[in-house]
Amino acid sequence: MDNKFPGKDITIEDLKTKFPLVAKKSPNHKSKFDVSGVEFGGQTIPVFAGPNMVESRELIFDTAKNVKSLGAHFLRGGAFKPLTFPYRSKKYNETREDGIKWLSEAKKEIGIPIITEVMEERYIDLIASTADILQIGSRNMQNFPLLTACAKTQKPIMLKRHYGSSLRDWLGAAEYLLVEGNEKVLLCERGVSVPHTHRSTSRFLLDLQVVPAAQELTHLPIIVDPSHATFWRPWVRSMSLASIAAGADGIMLEVHPDPENSAVDPLQPINYESFKALMKEMDLLAKTLFKRKILFNNS
Ligand code: PEP
Ligand code: MN
Repeated sequence: MDNKFPGKDITIEDLKTKFPLVAKKSPNHKSKFDVSGVEFGGQTIPVFAGPNMVESRELIFDTAKNVKSLGAHFLRGGAFKPLTFPYRSKKYNETREDGIKWLSEAKKEIGIPIITEVMEERYIDLIASTADILQIGSRNMQNFPLLTACAKTQKPIMLKRHYGSSLRDWLGAAEYLLVEGNEKVLLCERGVSVPHTHRSTSRFLLDLQVVPAAQELTHLPIIVDPSHATFWRPWVRSMSLASIAAGADGIMLEVHPDPENSAVDPLQPINYESFKALMKEMDLLAKTLFKRKILFNNS
């Protein structure tokens, strides 16, 4: 790290006074912690997999069973969703309390921990009763009252980077979580909004450079979500492998049994077969490059 200019707009003073808890204490300082039996920041690179939205009980049970058997460490899926436009149809509709109930049933019956999004303070208790990790979505990255309220539950939290946010603002938002005494915090890169996205359907560009850049400054594990970043299924495999190579501490992937018919963002989820192949490739890459692993010994 350059001692005078540790980050583009981040000064030494910032590390000491703006986000001292998020900042590394020494060059090799890296947080390591357990969430529901899965270690973050250590030898394993955990994978969160599942549909964009908890569409139905049937979908969530099918996905939970399949992604678990293929080695996923957590089931992802939003019951409360930040959908860009206000209009809904029967298919395109948040399942809210029902969705949380189905996630809870799947967790108990299939035995896989859950990460799901919290959008409003009034649902924190309900969601925290089921979720092993509370996800704060990119759109709420700087919703400070929400951040503080989530942190106070002392549940592990994953803070997604807003698609227009600098590293400085992202780390500042993470400090709001740590300052409440909550040490189980994950950061997640999910693509940034720039003019050059290479496809008319792609709204975002995966900022892989933020992985080493963040790791120079913070001890917190950095997760990458290539599904939201690419918004395009054919690119998910290569960008997942690139994320592993960049040093990601975890991967979030949208996986759906029938991707073309996903109720939300049907261009981005991969199917079970692709997920199975990708898990093996990511595992091999992690072992070869870093002596880290993705798959449990028995998967
Ligand atoms: C999601 O992970 O379901 C999601 C909405 O992601 P983001 O907040 O990054 O758009
Ligand atoms: Mn989404």
